[in-house]
Amino acid sequence: MPQINRIAIITGGAQGIGKSITKAFLEKGWTAVIADTDREAGEETAREFDTLGTITFIQTDVSEEKQVERLVEKTILLFGRIDALINNAGISINKPLTTLTIEEWNRVLGTNLTGIFLCAKHSCSHLQRVGGCIINIASTRAFMSEACTEAYSASKGGVVALTHALAVSLGSGIRVNCISPGWIETGLWKKKSRRITPALSAEDHLQHPAGRVGTPEDISSLVLYLVSTEASFLTGSNLIADGGMTRKMMYS
Ligand code: NDP
Repeated sequence: MPQINRIAIITGGAQGIGKSITKAFLEKGWTAVIADTDREAGEETAREFDTLGTITFIQTDVSEEKQVERLVEKTILLFGRIDALINNAGISINKPLTTLTIEEWNRVLGTNLTGIFLCAKHSCSHLQRVGGCIINIASTRAFMSEACTEAYSASKGGVVALTHALAVSLGSGIRVNCISPGWIETGLWKKKSRRITPALSAEDHLQHPAGRVGTPEDISSLVLYLVSTEASFLTGSNLIADGGMTRKMMYS
């Protein structure tokens, strides 16, 4: 039987966790479409993974509806189908409440939350046709906070809620799930000009019940699980991948 060529769009797929997700899909024989604002990173990642399979970079700001429409149209033109949409692009602007501007608030919400709405809206008819999946990357900051993270935390709480709303609206045709990572060290997954070797202390690792800080592969392996048939009973769910940090009492 001929193998189906499955297509995944990975937003923010040029660097960090998204780059690891891109690599994981390629290694499983999928075609990867990276939708990222960063041209330098997108072209670099497409070159780096060229030998792993079919990979394309389409420069896209997910907060801009016209650009999302173009991303979907171009993907369909090139590959004819969309099997998975991985909404991973995210930014944070952490500042004291009284100095956070409305533009900064809107930028964070626009990328982290509105971007997911736009990508889901414009790709759902294609996903429906093939029984595809949407996976949203939220954060444990949807549930717990440090000071001065209002925009980021609110956006990620919205991602968890948007996940179950989409799961119910899109029904059995498209499964929609969410992953909430904790601390994931991404230094080695940045573009070359920003790449740093992580300098994590024993304390950084040992404060986690699991005994270590997370890696991008901890998240990409969950993404692969969620798109697999083994996860066919999961929709609207949120998987927390944080080495146990949100389960730990912190009283001193
Ligand atoms: P990175 O900053 O390493 O990579 C994100 C990529 O997305 C970058 O290439 C970035 O480009 C790009 N991007 C930014 N804005 C947009 C946009 N509007 N449209 C398309 N692409 C965009 O992020 P991480 O790997 O750290 O995080 C990935 C996701 O995981 C995010 O949603 C984040 O909130 C979430 N997360 C991360 C955690 C962590 O510890 N790393 C913990 C919990 C959640 P550029 O560099 O030019 O901005």
